[in-house]
Amino acid sequence: MICPTCGTELRDGVLMCPICGTKQIVPPPAPPKNMQNNPKIFSKTRVVSFIIVMIFLIIGLWRVFLQ
Ligand SMILES: [Zn+2]
Repeated sequence: MICPTCGTELRDGVLMCPICGTKQIVPPPAPPKNMQNNPKIFSKTRVVSFIIVMIFLIIGLWRVFLQ
């Protein structure tokens, strides 16, 4: 992070510039995108796997009833 007032390079997490005393605005930590997308992907894969299992079940039952 760089101080916007004096341009001093500051360590991450420093709340105040030690050179000019400007308070540093720390952006709130954005949640990682993977964490946001994972539940959706997880539910999608669950639905797809459920459909595949159901198709196999129906085909199996259909074959059993035909024989
Ligand atoms: Zn500064």
